[in-house]
Amino acid sequence: MDLTRFGRSFGGHTGIMDLMDDMGRALAADRPVHMLGGGNPARIPAMETVWRRRMEEILARPGEYESMVGNYDRPQGRERFGDAFALYLRDRYGWDLGPENIAVTNGSQTAMFLLINMFSEEGRRILLPILPEYIGYADQGIAEESFVACRPRIEQRDAHSFKYRLDLDAVEAALVAAETGRADPIGAILISRPTNPSGNVVTDAELHRLDVLAERFSVPLIVDNAYGVPFPHIIFDEIVEGDVRPLWNDRIILGMSLSKIGLPGVRTGIVIASPEIITALSRANAILSLANGTVGQYLVEPLLRDGTIGRLAEEAITPFYRERAAFARETMGAAFGDAVPWAIHRLEGSIFLWLWLPDLPVPTKELYRRLKERGVIVVPGEYFFFGDTTDWAHSRQCLRINYGREPESIEAGFTIIAEEVRALWRR
Ligand code: PLP
Repeated sequence: MDLTRFGRSFGGHTGIMDLMDDMGRALAADRPVHMLGGGNPARIPAMETVWRRRMEEILARPGEYESMVGNYDRPQGRERFGDAFALYLRDRYGWDLGPENIAVTNGSQTAMFLLINMFSEEGRRILLPILPEYIGYADQGIAEESFVACRPRIEQRDAHSFKYRLDLDAVEAALVAAETGRADPIGAILISRPTNPSGNVVTDAELHRLDVLAERFSVPLIVDNAYGVPFPHIIFDEIVEGDVRPLWNDRIILGMSLSKIGLPGVRTGIVIASPEIITALSRANAILSLANGTVGQYLVEPLLRDGTIGRLAEEAITPFYRERAAFARETMGAAFGDAVPWAIHRLEGSIFLWLWLPDLPVPTKELYRRLKERGVIVVPGEYFFFGDTTDWAHSRQCLRINYGREPESIEAGFTIIAEEVRALWRR
């Protein structure tokens, strides 16, 4: 098969596809598997009840189900949904926006694909201001080299806890290098907040300074808010520094998703941006898929209109993950003790726990392979450091763990991880 470069990069082998296949095979194996690897949100009974009730309401209202499944949507997304979304954000944050600032996509993953390629091409890159960053962006660029990234500063909090800090000097230096022709031009800055995989929540002050840099260098700032506020609100306010308010202005492109409120299967992403960007995304939607899936928009619209979506997130989703996060931290401490060096990133938000194993005698890809043999699936950290071509030992010393899984899997899985790490140190 003689594929083009596009065909090879999107239909061929990527590290991530190999990893996903590998995880799939491990799951199909005939033995218990502790699946702490993927990005599936937890099944939260209170939220499942809400979505079931909403579907029953749709079915009970004459013609509503038929409208939901029987029409192609506008490429921008349903008018009523965009209207409700804009009103909700206006009310809650006082932002000056309307339905012309809202586009729906088939999942926020698709939104990020479109945005990454609208702002990068051969010789023009997306700047990731802080590594590690979401594995799901890594292969999205059509260009050969789509990203350039800045390392964070590592702040050790105590023996077993640390936090990544945005290195704004490094970000500024990267923008200056691009502007003065010493490096490829920068098309946009992109950050996930809360960050997948680290659980970091860049502070409001840091985000403002990033926005100031974006303005100074005239580049858009894309903020991927898949875990943020107002929903799903997988942010632990008592742990983050200061308030966490979403920031928006007509230079910021804010990505949101219905996935982490319990609806990953409906594939609905939302982009809040200037009308110019929204028009471009709508046209791209039409070309790629004609229209968006409607189910998520129907399910959620009334909860935007009556304002309950944010409250539901705070009452059902945040406490669920808070409890699981506390359990995971305790379990990690009990499993590891003080025999080998380990630290977890301060778990401020997202559904992941990021474990750092300083001076680990093997790369985490090898540790991943050993853990898989024992039925524990995690994601090795190497995949989250794209865009930085320099050699950094830290990138081979971390694991991403989905802490939202069943407590039994967390306990059994963490015990096995600690055993394998101790065994590696004893070799
Ligand atoms: N962005 C981040 C940071 C994510 O973690 C994910 C999924 O896990 C996505 C985007 C994509 O989410 P979806 O396409 O389900 O909206």
